Amino acid sequence: MTQVCTWCAEPTDEPVSVAVEHVASGPGRVVYACPDCRRRHRLLPLDQHPADSWGEVRYETAEAEPR
Ligand SMILES: [Zn+2]
Repeated sequence: MTQVCTWCAEPTDEPVSVAVEHVASGPGRVVYACPDCRRRHRLLPLDQHPADSWGEVRYETAEAEPR
């Protein structure tokens, strides 16, 4: 499944879903990143979001760091 990476705008064969973009009409649109951009921006994959996430972009550091 090829998807266009939202960050570098290049097609990738290994898209990682990282967010859901909410639109006024219809269901949300899944936002994809390529593996390179996911690592570079430390994007949290959608399937690792906490249960109360509504689909916004999350970053690994923001949630992983102890307070
Ligand atoms: Zn990319």
